[in-house]
Amino acid sequence: MPTRVTITGTGSPPVVPHRAGAGVLVEHGDTVLQFDAGRATALRIAEAGSHPARLSGLFLTHHHSDHITGVVDVIFSAWLNRPDSVNLTCVAPNGPCIRFLNRMLEPYDEDLAVRVHHSGRAYPAPVIIGFDATAAPTAVWERDDVRVLSRTVHHHPVDPAVAYRVETPDGAVVISGDTRVCDEVEDFARGCDVLVHEVFRVDAFVERSNDPTARTIGDYHSDTFALGAMAKRADPGVLMLTHLVPAPRNLDEKRQFEAEIRQGGYEGQLIVCDDLDAMEF
Ligand SMILES: [Zn+2]
Ligand SMILES: [Zn+2]
Repeated sequence: MPTRVTITGTGSPPVVPHRAGAGVLVEHGDTVLQFDAGRATALRIAEAGSHPARLSGLFLTHHHSDHITGVVDVIFSAWLNRPDSVNLTCVAPNGPCIRFLNRMLEPYDEDLAVRVHHSGRAYPAPVIIGFDATAAPTAVWERDDVRVLSRTVHHHPVDPAVAYRVETPDGAVVISGDTRVCDEVEDFARGCDVLVHEVFRVDAFVERSNDPTARTIGDYHSDTFALGAMAKRADPGVLMLTHLVPAPRNLDEKRQFEAEIRQGGYEGQLIVCDDLDAMEF
């Protein structure tokens, strides 16, 4: 059975039509894994032909709001549609992400109480699994023939931030999370089937924001030219660009992402993604 990778959101913090918040769905048979859950992720999972209730696990890369605002929606959507009394398993690096997961349902305690009273169904809390983020690849989740590895990336001052690598019998997909171009992702992604990577066009971002200080935001994101050079070395089967900053407003601006990646040196298969773009391997 193939492994399918679907980009559930290509957006970043600004609200842009048709670009949901950060997220990647990886499916291999009954194993369904979601990585990050930004704005509208639950909806996109359904549009991808799956459902939050089918998730085997939700993994977070870091605690920036554009990666976690949709988590509660995914949790409730999973619980309300599951026939069993099991809630979602959430996996994240120890620190701010785990503190967020532990507190996220508190504002909903009265809603939960009413629902439980009305339905007579118990509300099982999500299973929260924290791990210590490390520079070396570490296995953080495993079931049957699917394994998820994590390692730290460079998104300072947002620490920890991690990338994930999902290994199935079909091959491997690497999800960068938010990071500047770094050796850790390059090493993680070497020869993988799919590399899902964030990307940032610094000059275009500064020009659009009309604020010279905006350039500093580029310090912790992935410059297109450097990413093109890294992808040439890592040589993934396909490079899927997501978390597009600044969000392309037309085909010309979308092509600029590709042009700059090519100038960086990458000649392999490349997709400047829209929401729900998918690849199988
Ligand atoms: Zn982000
Ligand atoms: Zn971030």
